[in-house]
Amino acid sequence: MIRISQLKLPVSHTKEQLEKKIGKVLKSPSASFSYEIRKQSLDCRHKNDKMFVYTIDVKIKDEQKIAKRVNNNNVMLTAEKPYVFPEPGQEPLSCPPVVIGSGPAGLFCGWYLAKAGYKPLILERGEEADKRQKTVENFWKNGILDPDSNVQFGEGGAGTFSDGKLNTLVKDPYGRNHEVLKRFVEAGAPEEILYQQKPHLGTDVLIGIVEKMRHDIEAMGGSFRFRAKVTDLRFEKGVLKEIQVNDREIIPAQVCVLAVGHSARDTFEMLYRRGLYMEPKAFAVGLRIEHPQSMINMDLYGEEENEFLGAAAYKVTHKCENGRGVYSFCMCPGGYVVNASSEPGRLAVNGMSYQARDSRNANSAMIVTVTPEDFGGEGPLRGVEFQRELERKAWELGQGKIPVQLFGDYCKNQSSTALGEVVPCMKGEYVLANVRSVLPKAVGDSIEEGVRSFGKRITGFDREDALLSGVESRTSSPVRITRDSELLSNIQGVYPCGEGAGYAGGITSAAMDGIKIAETISKKYRNF
Ligand code: FAD
Repeated sequence: MIRISQLKLPVSHTKEQLEKKIGKVLKSPSASFSYEIRKQSLDCRHKNDKMFVYTIDVKIKDEQKIAKRVNNNNVMLTAEKPYVFPEPGQEPLSCPPVVIGSGPAGLFCGWYLAKAGYKPLILERGEEADKRQKTVENFWKNGILDPDSNVQFGEGGAGTFSDGKLNTLVKDPYGRNHEVLKRFVEAGAPEEILYQQKPHLGTDVLIGIVEKMRHDIEAMGGSFRFRAKVTDLRFEKGVLKEIQVNDREIIPAQVCVLAVGHSARDTFEMLYRRGLYMEPKAFAVGLRIEHPQSMINMDLYGEEENEFLGAAAYKVTHKCENGRGVYSFCMCPGGYVVNASSEPGRLAVNGMSYQARDSRNANSAMIVTVTPEDFGGEGPLRGVEFQRELERKAWELGQGKIPVQLFGDYCKNQSSTALGEVVPCMKGEYVLANVRSVLPKAVGDSIEEGVRSFGKRITGFDREDALLSGVESRTSSPVRITRDSELLSNIQGVYPCGEGAGYAGGITSAAMDGIKIAETISKKYRNF
């Protein structure tokens, strides 16, 4: 196979133009070949000449000869390295592995275990995706929160009502990242996600995908139970024996995967009481900011709209004078700010979008890292208490509605009383307020400094009527459930996994961690 990199074409190019260019680069214009796009990135440095830059793998006759003949640093021979799932091990299993949580980590772990013949049982505290969707929409409309089925909990996990960004910075020598993308495509995602630099799915697509993956797991011998909250784990001499569901039912268990996500605070408390080793972990808190998407497009593309490129994304960071870093996170082009709460009397926001990314506004979190020194209190769960306190203040400020403030008022530390030109795109009711009052001073000051500095890079970012809403507190896990070299917790049979355990951040890395745990179980245990 020949790999061509740095192949550039205008963003409006056709398939025929791409194929012609491949033939030209290989100096084989009339030869027949097959090809696979491996990567597509966008070069917007010249606003009037925006280009896609490709990496492409080509299969063609006489590859060695051609590669030598073209004598081009961007053309080289390469070999395919397929992903390999390990063969089953020898240790017998008395009962199927139990996966706790059906977020990306649990779902992908379950899929690979089912495919390898382990018949996993997946326990999920929330509802199936279609029922969950109705429950979530009812919450956004009427404010009635279901603490077990909401934006954080239910089939597909925290990522279901999201922008579905799939890029990750996790290094991947084993090919798990590509596996995740392939599984998504098989389950209904568009093929482009396999090569786009910043692939995304959108809530409308994600709901169908998680349902399809569930059906596939069931067809391969796995099973699901919804409204099945794990309320206790029972051990004997440091070995897992039983799992308690919904405070009453007992399930015998030899292996369980703890893929409970970063918001399962009650579950963290139970695990702590049960003696699982865990430690507090730094994470980040702040607010969401909204701007007109046309303003962001203008900055990146030099035009308010581009039919080939869709809504533009940005990523910004700033080091503050107080030494803290402030940065954009989970940016949702053409998206919505959502009420993403999961506990009564506490309010957290996040961002989502649909596949089309066609709302009026761009939003992203403006967040600042906080460390165990900021949390106060004691014990490994003190980060959870820190989050809870911020969320309690946000809830009280808006009496359950999302508190919103204009950036101009934020800088004056005063409540907003009227919107400017930017009108919120929100899922859930909102109310104008002084959101800054919710934040610790250092975080509030850092965000002001950060937004002003981002205004120097993106025209209008620091406009007076940009909207801030809060509180953004569920950026990553406030705790790490430690695992050893065999990826086990201190309890034999219990595998911490995904974002909640502190080993992933985002949909793709959580899914990759799920695959990694499935591989580990497979290497050790015999299948059925
Ligand atoms: P989770 O997805 O949190 O899944 C954990 C599951 O465990 C949940 O379904 C929960 O109900 C279940 N559970 C918890 N406790 C129990 C229990 N005791 N018993 C049974 N089940 C239990 N990431 C991105 O990469 N891109 C994005 O665009 C993006 N946007 C987001 C938008 C929103 C609104 C939110 C909330 C998150 C977003 N994220 C995004 C983050 C992403 O969703 C998470 O990183 C990812 O879902 C973590 O996967 P996970 O499987 O580890 O945990």
